[in-house]
Amino acid sequence: MTKAILVLNAGSSSLKFALFEYEAASDLHLMAQGQVEGIGIKPHFVAKDHHKQILADELLTASDIDHAYCLQTIGNLLRSRYANLKLLGVGHRVVHGGAHYAAPLRLTPGTMSALEALAPLAPLHQPHNLAAIRAVAEIRPDLPQVACFDTAFHRSQNQINQLFGLPYNCYERGIRRYGFHGLSYEYVSSVLRQQEPEVAAGKVVIAHLGNGASMCAIQNGKSVASSMGFTALDGLMMGTRTGNLDAGVVLYLLQQEQLSVQQVEELLYKRSGLLGLSGISSDMRILLDSTEPQAALAIDYFVHRISKELGSLAACMNGLDALVFTAGIGENSALIRQRVCKQAQWLGIELDEHANEAHEFCISAIDSPATAWLIPSNEELMIARHTRTQLGL
Ligand code: ADP
Repeated sequence: MTKAILVLNAGSSSLKFALFEYEAASDLHLMAQGQVEGIGIKPHFVAKDHHKQILADELLTASDIDHAYCLQTIGNLLRSRYANLKLLGVGHRVVHGGAHYAAPLRLTPGTMSALEALAPLAPLHQPHNLAAIRAVAEIRPDLPQVACFDTAFHRSQNQINQLFGLPYNCYERGIRRYGFHGLSYEYVSSVLRQQEPEVAAGKVVIAHLGNGASMCAIQNGKSVASSMGFTALDGLMMGTRTGNLDAGVVLYLLQQEQLSVQQVEELLYKRSGLLGLSGISSDMRILLDSTEPQAALAIDYFVHRISKELGSLAACMNGLDALVFTAGIGENSALIRQRVCKQAQWLGIELDEHANEAHEFCISAIDSPATAWLIPSNEELMIARHTRTQLGL
């Protein structure tokens, strides 16, 4: 019999999964991974095993495909592929744990209502995260489930770093900086601690540069400050999101240009960022390959925003010992890393061009006063580890 933990990450139009084998004396091993994308549009199911061999690659054609249907599809595949599989529990990525939850949570009906009450803080994500939990409970009520929050890692921040300059009662009402991408930061800093404990004990900034992008100041493994705030719109410019924006712009769009709230929401979340500035694409690979001046402008602004946030986060720690790159752009684009590091020379970062081009673990020069690193993220493994701990395995 193979014992395993299932990890689920449910978004508005996608359901991602990862299956990890559990053995008492060792770390968890990835068995299979995949996703249904395009739910509500053109659902496409892809799954691969740990050797990246395709297990499934098909368009789902039933008339009413929702997350519960996708869950059944994933379950059917796993049962047919792994005959003697015993699921021990399911870990979920849940975007918001509010001000209260600073750690993963084993789910009960009582805790589910507490998480439902947080949905207004993340209306585009939380309802989908919770729908997946309910769908599992319906299919397999016997299975323990664990919620792992993107905000939890940042609950170590002091109050100053969670405030806005709004009336204080806004803070008391929950309008504060929560920070996101916490599971990625927790995983990446755990790898740094394991491989370079002295570096991890210092003043570290991790740059999570994917479609969604943010940066986090981490001291002694604890989050000190984050570029993301009340929602995942703040901070760096992203694939389609604005990042940091003068709130007066929102008022202007509503009052002077008479945009509706929905139009503004769509503009800020879906039509801005790399896509909006370039007018070409939200995909960094396409922009890097383009010769259009607008693509270059979007990339210049992306790098500029990272440099500004880096200075701000270093100020929160009174210095910088190490800069770590992770996620799609951070892990794969030597050029973006090179440009960011060049702008960070004033903070003591000297890049080793050769190591950077070769995507090595340490990418700073041997005598660089501050160091630079490349660590691939693995949020799914982080969730599986948390689930294992919460289940007492
Ligand atoms: P998500 O936030 O959706 O998880 P990812 O972490 O997968 O995003 O990052 C997606 C981004 O990474 C895209 O902008 C993509 O273009 C970029 N990316 C992936 N590979 C490369 C590469 N080789 N060079 C530059 N950018 C890359």
